[in-house]
Amino acid sequence: MKEKTTAVVLAAGAGRRMHSDVQKQYLLLGDKLVIYYALKTLQDSFIDEIVLVVGHGETQYCRNDIVEKYRFSKVKQIVEGGKERYHSVANGLKTIDGDGYVFIHDGARPFLSEEMLLRSYEAVRKYQACVVGMPVKDTIRIVDENGFSSMTPNRETVWQMQTPQVFAAALVKEAYEKLLVREAELKERGIRITDDAMVVETLLNHSVKMVEGSYENIKITTPEDLDIARSFLKK
Ligand code: C5P
Repeated sequence: MKEKTTAVVLAAGAGRRMHSDVQKQYLLLGDKLVIYYALKTLQDSFIDEIVLVVGHGETQYCRNDIVEKYRFSKVKQIVEGGKERYHSVANGLKTIDGDGYVFIHDGARPFLSEEMLLRSYEAVRKYQACVVGMPVKDTIRIVDENGFSSMTPNRETVWQMQTPQVFAAALVKEAYEKLLVREAELKERGIRITDDAMVVETLLNHSVKMVEGSYENIKITTPEDLDIARSFLKK
């Protein structure tokens, strides 16, 4: 039997690195907004429900101009996000119960595919926690505070993290509840939470399985990314 699957789609970021007044998820890609594409893939997939997390004061706009306009009937909730990405995730998770599995996805990643969703669904049922990503193509160096490279990790062991990041609902809800309690302490220790895998690993000591994503599953962060995304779209 298939268990309940919920997607939490994040669209509450400010997009400062885009140097634009418009947030990255609302920029135009082809004739649609960036956020449209991931929602469309989720709407047409096996996912049961979607929770959309939007910026402060944007609920009405998103409901009218995105959810209703494109008939994304699986969007059951639209909630406001918070200051950091993890606050936005936590707000999304608060609206769902502890059943089944949660697919957390960046709204700024338009090239989500059904295959990625299926691969991660298979992995999460086995491991309770998994993340889509790809091995890096470039050599990565760790650089010290003086700007000198201090270490070169073996390229085969370095992956770039993408989304969806997928978890058993009860597990990820517990991890985020603990994170909010310990937020100040972690900040003081210099631990910066940048994705969901980190939350589950740091707060619950639970391991996270890597699942193959795609090199096209980029996040629209800077203006160059939008050019690349446009060329992917043409294909
Ligand atoms: O800022 P970053 O590139 O990590 O954003 C990744 C995704 O998380 C984007 O889709 C963005 O809209 C979302 N986000 C959010 N709330 C924040 C920061 C980012 O929903 N406070």
